[in-house]
Amino acid sequence: MSPTGAARLAGVAGWPVSQSLSPALHGHWLAEHGIDGAYVPLPVRPDEFAADIQALARMGFRGVNVTVPHKEAAFALADRLDAAARTVGAVNLLVFDNGFQGCNTDVSGLRAALVEELGRDCVQGRVAAVWGAGGTARAAVVALSQMGASEIRIFNRTPARAEQLAKALEGVPTPLSAAGYGAWTARRDGVALIVHATSAGMNGKASIALPLDGLASDAALCDVVYNPLKTDLLERAAAAGLRTVDGLGMLMHQAVPSFAAFYGITPRVTPALRAVLEKALRV
Ligand code: NDP
Repeated sequence: MSPTGAARLAGVAGWPVSQSLSPALHGHWLAEHGIDGAYVPLPVRPDEFAADIQALARMGFRGVNVTVPHKEAAFALADRLDAAARTVGAVNLLVFDNGFQGCNTDVSGLRAALVEELGRDCVQGRVAAVWGAGGTARAAVVALSQMGASEIRIFNRTPARAEQLAKALEGVPTPLSAAGYGAWTARRDGVALIVHATSAGMNGKASIALPLDGLASDAALCDVVYNPLKTDLLERAAAAGLRTVDGLGMLMHQAVPSFAAFYGITPRVTPALRAVLEKALRV
């Protein structure tokens, strides 16, 4: 249905935000469930983040998703935090309810995507590797720990940032180690699952060039980059015989709790939703 004057309002705050798939994603669910609601892109400048969020709350928005570069600012603005946001130190969902409730749904989103595409026990009792040390890598380490990885090896272009990440997450119950990319070949033995969580390979940027040989025959690689959907890295992984998971699964699943918070219905991740997003990526 078209939104009426009483529509429930939500959106995604980013800078820039025109590349976001979230309006198409939530728009699909709004139509599917016949909800009187709207979900809009919100270009919010970094220096105006707090003032703009407060204005949206005053105007009756139910909440917002938060994307680059605002996830740390949203963490700082939140009055209350869920457990995942506290552990990761970043917020991608602000629910306006007696102040600002800050949540991190990237952790559960990645976990759900891995379970759906590789199976519940895909990393249980096995070694995982995370490439990258930014906010998404941090969410990936928490997700892999929750999934029962026996050890998580973090690799980053800037080794000091990998070390900072391992230190910041030393409270997770999984042994963590940190290194630069130069250590990959010596430290890849036993790795069953790689999560690539850097911005390399995104929107025409050069892809990450780490070798993918020497891994177990049932090893898998998940690329969180979803634009383009078939990254060079995923193509190399498939050619090397690895099972692959693209970034759309995480994107779709991280949106589920947001939609539920804004509109009161828990939506489903379906092939029809994936088709909508794949089409949006082709435009
Ligand atoms: P950050 O800016 O926080 O971190 C960027 C990371 O990428 C750092 O580790 C940085 O290394 C590394 N990096 C950047 N360029 C290169 C390069 N050329 N070669 C090697 N490493 C590089 O980014 P985010 O964590 O916010 O986002 C990372 C990716 O995750 C993005 O592509 C984003 O689109 C994607 N994402 C996907 C989601 C999904 O649902 N699928 C959800 C959220 C994000 P260094 O420390 O050395 O600078």
